[in-house]
Amino acid sequence: MSKDMRRCTRCILPETFPNISFDAEGVCSYCQKAPPIPEFNRIRAELRGQIEAVFDQVRGKSEYDCIVAYSGGKDSTYVTWLMAHEYKVRPLAVTIDNSFLSPTAIENCKAISDTLGVDHMFFRPSSTFMKSMYRTSLTGDVHVKAAVTRASAVCNSCINIINTFMVKLAAHWGIQVIVGGYIGGQVPKDAAMMKLDLDALGRTRQRSTERYLKAFGDEGSRFFQLPEESSVRQVTVINPLLAVPYGEEMVIEKIKQFGWKMPTDTGRNSSNCRLNDLGILQHSKRFGFNPYVNELAELVRNGLMDREKALGKANAVPEAAEVEDIMENLNLKEGDLEA
Ligand SMILES: [Zn+2]
Repeated sequence: MSKDMRRCTRCILPETFPNISFDAEGVCSYCQKAPPIPEFNRIRAELRGQIEAVFDQVRGKSEYDCIVAYSGGKDSTYVTWLMAHEYKVRPLAVTIDNSFLSPTAIENCKAISDTLGVDHMFFRPSSTFMKSMYRTSLTGDVHVKAAVTRASAVCNSCINIINTFMVKLAAHWGIQVIVGGYIGGQVPKDAAMMKLDLDALGRTRQRSTERYLKAFGDEGSRFFQLPEESSVRQVTVINPLLAVPYGEEMVIEKIKQFGWKMPTDTGRNSSNCRLNDLGILQHSKRFGFNPYVNELAELVRNGLMDREKALGKANAVPEAAEVEDIMENLNLKEGDLEA
């Protein structure tokens, strides 16, 4: 990926980004469609009110008011604190150990849960299945085009496992709300608050589930299929970072107070997963843009990140030598990553 490719003069989206065009001033079509910053802030404030209303309805009604999908990374750590101490709901923090979590991230999960007084559990899907899934994700063509504008193939596969597990857990344990740590650009626009009906969701997801089972084998059905019967059939998914004030430095400064430590083995764009750099390298080779560029562009567009800082991150695509050990672990050679 060339560092001097054409980029939007307002956000940082490159000319290689899907369906992009530029006006005479060099402003991209995504910026032209985005609401201006005051409108963006008004939408966020309105969402905050809606989120509070949901928590007012569920608070104290069952063992846990919500599940927090807790990766141990910076954003979901901040969200866990928000739940327990700002919204004052009782969360169950749940971490999926994908076999590639940084040891520092695992320690962060435990330390932060202790500091915040939050119950926490790890779920570790079969390492054999996970490695095989990542290998197929990196060498095949598993995800739809809209998904690959937001995340790498390995991240998309993992996100699907995490989302399905959280819904299953909520359905079986009778927990009505699932809280995630996604920020703008990582998820579709309506993801700040989504009310899901499990029966309808099972039907709309049928095609993607079939595609995953075809790619990853029927063994994956326990990870990708929703339960047909459960005590709860309606869950609300909330991503509060799409509504509350957000800034990377502000988040890190806050969570360091609770003992959170930045891992040193997760590359430039992740604060929990050692696979991330390999995902970025493969995605950049294949599509010609960094999979983080969409979220970085959105942060810049909305005045939440300095443009130069975002450009630095977007241009920091790892070299093959930096991900050699992870590739060896997955039994992959550099040539396997070419489309
Ligand atoms: Zn733009």
